[in-house]
Amino acid sequence: MRANTPDLSRYPGDVLHLHFIYLAGEEISENYGLMYTIKSRESRRRVLLSHYKFSCSCVACVENWPTLQQMKAEVKEQEECCRRE
Ligand SMILES: [Zn+2]
Repeated sequence: MRANTPDLSRYPGDVLHLHFIYLAGEEISENYGLMYTIKSRESRRRVLLSHYKFSCSCVACVENWPTLQQMKAEVKEQEECCRRE
């Protein structure tokens, strides 16, 4: 990904449109649309393995980052805990 612009777009029929010119061996990144803030690690990994045939090892998966919903629940729990004190 370059300057916050996706490297490619997907179209029906497995057609890829590359947004830049790439040199041989250069990495091309794709956004799979599985945002860690919305989907759990298990859900993301299941989709990536079944659709793209790889086990994801991005930082969010390796460190098991919480979803936004999990973070909100944790904050709410901490707030309730503080009120009881
Ligand atoms: Zn991942």
